[in-house]
Amino acid sequence: MSNYRITLLPGDGIGPEIMSVTTGILKQVGEQLGIGFEFKEALMGGAAIDATGSPLPDETLAICKDSDAVLLAAIGGYKWDNLPRHQRPETGLLGLRAGLGLFANLRPASILPQLIDASSLKREVVEGVDIMVVRELTGGIYFGQPKGIFETETGEKRGVNTMVYSEGEIDRIGKVAFETAQKRSGRLCSVDKANVLDVSQLWRDRITQMAADYPDVELSHLYVDNAAMQLIRAPKQFDTIVTGNLFGDILSDAAAMLTGSIGMLPSASLGAAGPGVFEPVHGSAPDIAGQDKANPLAQVLSAAMLLRYGLNEPEAASRLEQAVQTVLDADYRTGDIMSAGKTLVGCQAMGEALKQALG
Ligand code: NAD
Repeated sequence: MSNYRITLLPGDGIGPEIMSVTTGILKQVGEQLGIGFEFKEALMGGAAIDATGSPLPDETLAICKDSDAVLLAAIGGYKWDNLPRHQRPETGLLGLRAGLGLFANLRPASILPQLIDASSLKREVVEGVDIMVVRELTGGIYFGQPKGIFETETGEKRGVNTMVYSEGEIDRIGKVAFETAQKRSGRLCSVDKANVLDVSQLWRDRITQMAADYPDVELSHLYVDNAAMQLIRAPKQFDTIVTGNLFGDILSDAAAMLTGSIGMLPSASLGAAGPGVFEPVHGSAPDIAGQDKANPLAQVLSAAMLLRYGLNEPEAASRLEQAVQTVLDADYRTGDIMSAGKTLVGCQAMGEALKQALG
């Protein structure tokens, strides 16, 4: 029997509520398939600031490093919004990414047929959309040097950022992207701005070279301006998209919004080796925290990504995804995805429905 050590970071706001539902579901699927989970909970975000003064205590990072995968709920809230930047909950998130070397961010955007009317685009445009955006997370213009606001000799200020990618950085995100495409329908679109940027030309050259090692993946390229247009015009043409940090930041949000519902979106951040971090895209929703109103489905789908991409347990992942489909088919809805004629349930009741759906 496989036995995995999972670090749980429930964080703040609705985090503990959606985490508790999700661990119950994980245990159940583990029992069904003979997969053992050893859960260890650690402090992060506002809860960690209150207890230790730091949003990411050393002990938490050590526990994460020592595990097979990390399941994070959400961090932050009004109480900590005005602290100095190094003490803010979000600083803990950046520290976690850096500490675990997480350079690849996977953000799926699939339209669930039951929620199709939540999209702002027409049904025929979004029906069947199933996209995975693979974004480089620790390089590119957000981190390149030099960066800063400098004063020139004339006293005028200049803001500078540098977009830089080395071959090694491109190759490692390329590998994640090709392997992700292999696990999906085998189509990969690399997005860059090679008509203008040298850094993008290198990106395109390397990704093209890598394609020879993945004959089962069909590779295409798009310039980022065209990709943005195509995502809105005809999103079904995309399967897996790979792109750099800046373009990925923007395109992954655009792709996510095709689905229309933030309470349904999971994500994964992966490194070369060691544990990945799996978390919903949404925040800690302090406005509904502690009221049993939170939608736990993005957290459950994040656990499915943990199983598929973190532990290579695709059968268990599919069972969780199927359970989500089943509860939606049975018309259960939390407030954020509620519509006429459906049954309004709270976080706990949605958890119970998921347990029943798992069987
Ligand atoms: P948010 O995603 O927390 O909430 C936006 C809106 O969506 C709110 O009305 C909220 O009630 C609703 N919502 C979000 N998730 C929901 C869910 N699962 N079920 C039902 N409704 C849900 O974004 P925000 O309000 O901008 O930020 C709140 C806090 O979360 C801030 O402190 C912010 O810094 C933090 N945040 C954390 C993360 C993270 O942990 N990765 C991400 C984004 C924001």
